Amino acid sequence: MNIIDGKKVSADIKAEIAREVEERVAAGKRRPHLVAILVGHDGGSETYVAHKVKACEECGFKSTLIRFESTPEAPLDPAELMATIERLNADDDVDGFIVQLPLPRHIDEQAVIEAIRPEKDVDGFHPVNVGKQSVGLPCFHSATPAGIVELLRRYEIPTRGKNVVIVGRSNIVGKPLAAMLMQKGYPGDATVTVCHSATEGLAEICRRADILVAALGRPAFISADMVKDGATVIDVGTTRVPDASRKSGFRLSGDVDFDAVAPKCSFITPVPGGVGPMTICSLMQNTLQAARLKD
Ligand code: NAP
Repeated sequence: MNIIDGKKVSADIKAEIAREVEERVAAGKRRPHLVAILVGHDGGSETYVAHKVKACEECGFKSTLIRFESTPEAPLDPAELMATIERLNADDDVDGFIVQLPLPRHIDEQAVIEAIRPEKDVDGFHPVNVGKQSVGLPCFHSATPAGIVELLRRYEIPTRGKNVVIVGRSNIVGKPLAAMLMQKGYPGDATVTVCHSATEGLAEICRRADILVAALGRPAFISADMVKDGATVIDVGTTRVPDASRKSGFRLSGDVDFDAVAPKCSFITPVPGGVGPMTICSLMQNTLQAARLKD
């Protein structure tokens, strides 16, 4: 059994990006500039955005964090957020920007996603980027699926003709990953099955997987009897579960029962340290690409 080390791969990629950025700067070009918008004080979102800002530093990018307060007593006026998006859309100094999700319930997330210019949508969530991805055109790929595909590539895990089973059909993980792995070429050419809460015979379908991707947000849901001997298992889940022994009071749990499943696998991602760091890396790659496209 081999552990897929997302932390190491992401460090390698960030070093590659940083080298290219320094070459660009030496050639008189601007540093790529990523802007992150954070609304309110969701604990998870604060952590993710802090990691993104740190990754920008590691890659030699300029980064800007825009914060909006929003509480149930004083909710943010969505028009204020939209005005900022319009300003960033028009700002030539900004290569890409993201609005950290989830947003407070009173804000229409889809309207926010669609307000971002596709050329600056480095999260790859805009329907234009999603559509281009599904027909195999150049675009900003959704960050988490792109990170998973990069892990498969770097570990040279075969995908051609393989059965890939993805548990979870969200717009940010399951659906775009399915589109990427069924494209012609490598890593693709896979036979992809996407499962969800209405799927019948889930365990049996999972047992047929050469590559099993768990993206449902249910801690330790994938048990050893759902995994074929020698499978590659990619665990996307990151659920905070209470843990009194930690200073934070919680730990991150994946969707796979790691201790029971790992001995059966040829490759497996840990949580944390597997898919998570790769998601941020994809965002950095998309931002660098946005800057290149303006050359
Ligand atoms: P989501 O939008 O909640 O979607 C979950 C999917 O799982 C849905 O399609 C749901 O089916 C399916 N599902 C739920 N319970 C199921 C069950 N018992 N059997 C079969 N399918 C079931 O979640 P998401 O945003 O894709 O995220 C999934 C997990 O990945 C979460 O833990 C999230 O925190 C994590 N995540 C991690 C990263 C990272 O960078 N590491 C990035 C994104 C997400 P229905 O569609 O039928 O409801």
